[in-house]
Amino acid sequence: MTIVNDHFKTIAPVGEETPEQLLDMIAQSVAACRQCYLCEGRTNVVPGFGNPEARVMLIGEAPGKNEDLQGRPFVGAAGKYLTELLGYAGLTREEVFIGNVLKCRPPSNRNPQPDEITLCAPFLRDQVRAIGPEYIVTMGNFATKFILRTDRGITKLHGRLEQTGRFKVFPVFHPAAAIYDRTKRESLEEDFRTLGEFLRQQ
Ligand code: SF4
Repeated sequence: MTIVNDHFKTIAPVGEETPEQLLDMIAQSVAACRQCYLCEGRTNVVPGFGNPEARVMLIGEAPGKNEDLQGRPFVGAAGKYLTELLGYAGLTREEVFIGNVLKCRPPSNRNPQPDEITLCAPFLRDQVRAIGPEYIVTMGNFATKFILRTDRGITKLHGRLEQTGRFKVFPVFHPAAAIYDRTKRESLEEDFRTLGEFLRQQ
């Protein structure tokens, strides 16, 4: 059975649907969404993509130009780098689910605005509930602050395992921020190696 959460007006997984079915329903709701200004400039919505039963769910900030054109998350240079980073953790793209806080591209890749995050967040919450990952890897400040409900920045939090509810949360720098920053690259690669160690331990 599917219910609609009156508060968030999105689908809450409470019945016998599979994670894949729930993700499809959420993606359909995202495709129809015109709740914020970002719907005006989008080519495609980018609801997220990956394994519906992933042990690891990665959350970034918002779609960029390539993602908007293809309707898939992390398909540009940052996406290529993310695939490489997953390898440091012993993971492949096929094993994980990748999403973003916002499902539509902000103009000129500007930062997400608080009202946009508030309006779009229920979709992400429902995706987390549908997948039920063991680990949530938050990439960058926006995803980390949203998931951990903290004001602390990614520079302090990256590479440290946190617990929120039943989820283990592992913040890392956003891959796009590290492509041309050697120091961040080293931190990011080290953090993904650490993630791999956690995954192998349990
Ligand atoms: S960014 Fe989110 S809330 Fe705004 S229109 Fe897109 S799907 Fe809807």
